[in-house]
Amino acid sequence: MVVVGCADYACEFSPGKNREDFPFYSSTSRFYRELPCFLIATVDKFAMLPWRGDTGALFGRVRARADRDFYGPMNGTPPKTSEALPKGLLPPS
Ligand SMILES: [Zn+2]
Repeated sequence: MVVVGCADYACEFSPGKNREDFPFYSSTSRFYRELPCFLIATVDKFAMLPWRGDTGALFGRVRARADRDFYGPMNGTPPKTSEALPKGLLPPS
């Protein structure tokens, strides 16, 4: 596990102020569930976009949210406690 935070203790992204740590992912394991708002990827990942069904979530094609998890067409039935998102999300600008 990699924990990323700011070294400035006064910053809201310092480990002392932000208990959930800075939301940083270095692998795709949670990537399609906890959708990023900023993405740096290698060319091979970018080339895979049209070939993976769950990448639609990166462009706002989600239908529900439960806590930090988003549910798109490839993610099965969302939990009953989830919040419905009938319009999805805005795609990245
Ligand atoms: Zn900072």
